[in-house]
Amino acid sequence: MNPFAHLEEEIQSWKDAGMYRQLTEIESEQGARVVIRGKEAIQLSSNNYLGLTTHPRLRKAAIEAVEKFGAGTGSVRTIAGTFSLHEEFERKLAEFKHTEAALVFQSGFTANVGVVATILSAEDVVISDELNHASIIDGIRLTKAGRRIYKHVDMEDLEKALQETQSARMRLIVTDGVFSMDGNIAPLPQIVELAEKYNAIVMVDDAHASGVLGRNGRGTVDHFDLNGRVHIQIGTLSKAIGVLGGYVAGPKVLREYLIQRARPFLFSTSHPPAVTAACLEAVNVLLEEPEIMERLWDNARFFKEGLSRLGFNTGHSETPVTPVIIGDDALTMKFSDALFEEGVYAQGIAFPTVQKGKARVRTIVTASQTKEDLQQALAAFEKVGKELGVIS
Ligand SMILES: *Cc1c(COP(=O)(O)O)cnc(C)c1O
Repeated sequence: MNPFAHLEEEIQSWKDAGMYRQLTEIESEQGARVVIRGKEAIQLSSNNYLGLTTHPRLRKAAIEAVEKFGAGTGSVRTIAGTFSLHEEFERKLAEFKHTEAALVFQSGFTANVGVVATILSAEDVVISDELNHASIIDGIRLTKAGRRIYKHVDMEDLEKALQETQSARMRLIVTDGVFSMDGNIAPLPQIVELAEKYNAIVMVDDAHASGVLGRNGRGTVDHFDLNGRVHIQIGTLSKAIGVLGGYVAGPKVLREYLIQRARPFLFSTSHPPAVTAACLEAVNVLLEEPEIMERLWDNARFFKEGLSRLGFNTGHSETPVTPVIIGDDALTMKFSDALFEEGVYAQGIAFPTVQKGKARVRTIVTASQTKEDLQQALAAFEKVGKELGVIS
């Protein structure tokens, strides 16, 4: 008897539906162009917005940290794995984000799970946008708090949820700052107003806004001039920051509480010195080289305009995350494969990452790409789009 027969069957059904993806091996560094299966392609699928994965200052900081402190830390933060580097970086992050304190988690995913699952109890209610990231959803699954899911960026529905949960001890409204599959920005000013009206607190997950929006990439709170009015900011160090990790920025009491109780923080080893040193240097780069962010936005505008001009449906993106919405899962995967043949790597994204019938090739240009790279990519989109009948 094959104990995994049911898994094999399910996998076969994905293959039959054209929804099965192989892992793509990158054989080079994560740059403007990458090498895949021995072929060079323009990289339009990474979250390396600012090109910091390969920035000379980050490489140098990481190497120096390895030489000085070694490859790993050998312990969780709460036992023997807090190095002075970790504390120095968290102070720097808090200062950067204009918050009292910051705490780093192993990833953005664990930061979300850690916060949502830890600070709420049965007397509380979490109110969450329906398109929030999977890690917020998993955090919600782990709490005993009541839950209300509101329609995507629908402020009337949010207000209704706030009206119906007034007996709760604490209401936590959670939203992505930038929605990762569509590139739209959450209506944070309205969310904050509603939160203030109904005495709720707000948590924003700025994974796709860290290093992208706000002054020097401080995120959506700074972008909307809401400093001091959003209680909890989650950021990632794995996307524009170019390294690995997640963080929570907020009041001191939150940091203190999470250190005592957040399970991903307590039960998983701290970041290696190279990671923390490179992240710290990345914040210095954000402060000292703002022109990188300008290049990112310039490239994003150029590429978006190009796609629209060709007649592609790019949804309602307001950030460098630009979906090319195709709809059918199998056609989307075919589109993505054909782009690769033309020297462009743009991964197709289908159910369950996005809703059925909303499959897309999601593109994210980076600051490292040249206008020639982007022109070449647009020419590939045009050729493939016409061949497959996506545009006319
Ligand atoms: C990517 C992402 C995360 C997870 O961040 P990692 O650091 O990669 O774990 C969390 N939230 C959102 C909205 C994301 O896009």
